[in-house]
This record gives sequence, C-alpha cells and structure tokens, in this order.
Amino acid sequence: MERRLFGTNGIRGVVNQDLTSEFVVKMGLAIGTFFNGGQLLIGCDGRTSSQLFKEAMISGLVSTGCSVHDVGCAPTPAIQFLTKHFELDGSVTITASHNPPEYNGIKVNSSDGIEIPREDEVKIEQNYFNETFRQVPWNLLGKVYERKHVLNIYLDAIKRHVDVGAIKKEHYRVVVDPGNGVGTITTPYLLRELGCEVITINSNLDGRFPSRLPEPALENLKDLASTVKAVKADMGVAHDGDADRSIFCDETGTLHWGDKSGAIIQKYILKTHPGATIVTPVSSSKLVEDIAERYGGKIVWTKVGSIIVSRKMLEVGSIFSYEENGGIFYAPHLPVRDGGISAALMLEIMAKTGKTLSQLVNELPKYYAVKAKIKCSNDLKPKVLDRLLEETSKYERLTLDGVKLFIDNGSILIRPSGTEPIFRVFSEAKTEAKAKSLSEFGMKLVRDLIKKSQ
Ligand code: MG
Repeated sequence: MERRLFGTNGIRGVVNQDLTSEFVVKMGLAIGTFFNGGQLLIGCDGRTSSQLFKEAMISGLVSTGCSVHDVGCAPTPAIQFLTKHFELDGSVTITASHNPPEYNGIKVNSSDGIEIPREDEVKIEQNYFNETFRQVPWNLLGKVYERKHVLNIYLDAIKRHVDVGAIKKEHYRVVVDPGNGVGTITTPYLLRELGCEVITINSNLDGRFPSRLPEPALENLKDLASTVKAVKADMGVAHDGDADRSIFCDETGTLHWGDKSGAIIQKYILKTHPGATIVTPVSSSKLVEDIAERYGGKIVWTKVGSIIVSRKMLEVGSIFSYEENGGIFYAPHLPVRDGGISAALMLEIMAKTGKTLSQLVNELPKYYAVKAKIKCSNDLKPKVLDRLLEETSKYERLTLDGVKLFIDNGSILIRPSGTEPIFRVFSEAKTEAKAKSLSEFGMKLVRDLIKKSQ
C-alpha cells in the first residue's frame, strides 16, 4: 500500500502521538531536501505546540542548506501571500487549521503561495521514507532571518482590492470572533483600517482555544450571534484557527453557512465580470449553479480540498471560488482561501449595494441544509466508500469525490473527511423537512455500511 503523510490539507496529527518533534525535524529534512537549498518563509498558528514544531521544522530545513525567513505567528493566507510577495522558493506553515487544540500540522506552499500539488507531496514523502536527505556540511548550513512587522504588507494588499472609500463612508459596526486563533492579529486591524467600529470576542491568541472550538461551525458561534444582536452590529465574522475561513452573521444575529456568503460574493463578481469561470468543490450548494445560470457564469466542479480548488483556478483562469465551509478564494489577491479578504469583500458589497447582510441573504434562492458527521476509523473508510458506491448505483449521482446523490430536487453528499476519522453527510433541499429526511436517510445508509464493514 502507498504510504502517505499528506491528507486533504497538509499533514495533521495529535501532538506527541502522531506528530512529535522528532517527526517534524525529519519532515524538515525531507521538505528542505525537496527545496534543495532554497529560501523559505516559515510561520505558525497560535497552538500550544506551534512554536515547538516551528523550531523543529527550522532545524530540519537549515540542516539541508535552506535559509528560513521566520514571520512568527501569522494567518495561513498571510504566510501564503508573503511567500509570493518576497519572491521566495516556498514556505512552510505549522498549523492544524480548524482541528481541535490537541492537533497540529504542516502545510507546504510553492513559490506562487499555493499549497504544493500532489506530485510534489509524493516527492517529499519519498525523501522522508527513503531518508534521502541533503544534509550539508557546516559551512553550507542555511541562515535564519527573523521577519518582523510584515503582516501590514498583507493587510495593505487586501486593501488594494476593495473600495476603501466606499466602506469607510458607512462606518460599519462589526463583531469579529477569531476564536482565539491567529485571525486575532489581523482581521480586527484590517476592519478598523476600513473605517469600521470593531468589537472583538475570543480575541486573545490562545492555543488552548478556551472559548470555542477552532472550527467555525454554526453551533460554535452562538456568542458571535448574541453579541451582534446585543451591540446592534451591522455584521459579525468568525474565523477558524488559522483564519483562512470566514463565517458571517447578519445584523439580525443569524449565522450563515459559507454557501450563502460565497453566493453573495459570486453574484457581485459575476455582475462585474460576466461569463467568469467559478471553480467550486462538490460539497457546494446548488446555489452556486443557480447564481451562475442567473448572472451568466461557468461552473467547474472539483473534488473537495482547497489545494485542488486553488490549482484548478490557475488552470482554468478562474477569478473566484468558494467552499461551503467559509473558504473564499479571490484570485486578483491570491487564489487561496483567505478569511481577511472575504470580510473586506463582504463589507464592500454591503457598501456598494446599500443593503444589509440579511437583505443580501434573502435575495438568494432558498435552500435548507443539514450537515451531519459520523465517526469512522481511517482504516475502514475505503471499504465503506466502496460499498457506498455499490449501494447507490441506482440513483442519479456524482462520484467525483465520495458520492453526491440527487433525490427529489435535493441532494445528499456523503464523503470521508480527508483530515478527521469521520464521514460527512451534507443534505440540501427546498424545504427544511425534506433536508432533514434526506440527512436521516444518508446517515442511516452510512451507519449500516460501517457496521457491515467492521
Ligand atoms: Mg483553516
């Protein structure tokens, strides 16, 4: 069997179980060997283990002759932007994104700031397993440079892509919930520079994530919703642990999944870029198709995974993409998901249309969605998926990634998570009752197949 270390978004594991400092040093050697003595940027999120792993990674990289530009704690999209901005050969981010606090991980980016493609992951995995490391003599070791105060470069770049004057005029009141993640050191400052009155919650960087889990799932964002209502804010925005995703709350205190915020931005972009190509993974709502049909855009479906989406955007020249989990990709800035630019774009849309966020949401076609998940060990996933493909052949379906079944004007997407030992079941329909019944049907199907496969 092919031995793999990289999942959907880099390498992830539980600290000091799957992911130890010894492992990270060895990965540093494998990654540094791949970059062959290049200049790399490195940064990390605010997890309790991130500094430790960043130092272990630097140790491996420098041993191979790579020089390292250390930006310290920074959002994943800032690290990606700065890699391209400083014209470096690549970068490494120590982060486990939205995973619970006991996890950490490693993401590797190319010189274009986008995570490396699968074929390069294979080369690094081969270096790791074969232990073919480029360990250089003492006089050829890489250097370590501390790069302080660079986050402003990232924030200034975002501001160049939105109408700052139009946003400033509105003096929006915005609640920001970075969930104690690294968004705490960028988004509140960005929005203040856009003339907003910013109120923050869970906004001290804390790797224990004491206030809520790092995943901006709606059930984790009740404090954001109640704060938006209490302070009569125009908008609320929450990030995941590394601030590449944004989930929005409208002025009535209603939280919205990324499908809706993504569709609002998609509509705005298609009005100014008619005929544009929108890349989106199979996990997206039918909304993406409805908006493309109504405003003239072309849809390209992909497998789930931000790397696949980013690389496909480059391939087909797409300006914009989004994921249901709150990932917004805006290519004029960088075709990677970015929590900061999505908040800025949403404010620009509100300012330019003169509409509230709830009005913008209410203008969209209505779908009801139910998101559920069921535990399934990583070993069992392939077996369950094979059986799922057999059992569902009678339905109209997409098998690009997991199985997406189209039933009664609704859909159920059943797919194994690439980062966690779970199957995700996303259901969608025109009524709430139908969405629930589709979800129950999908959950029962997977539960039975997991039992049969054990
Ligand atoms: Mg993330």
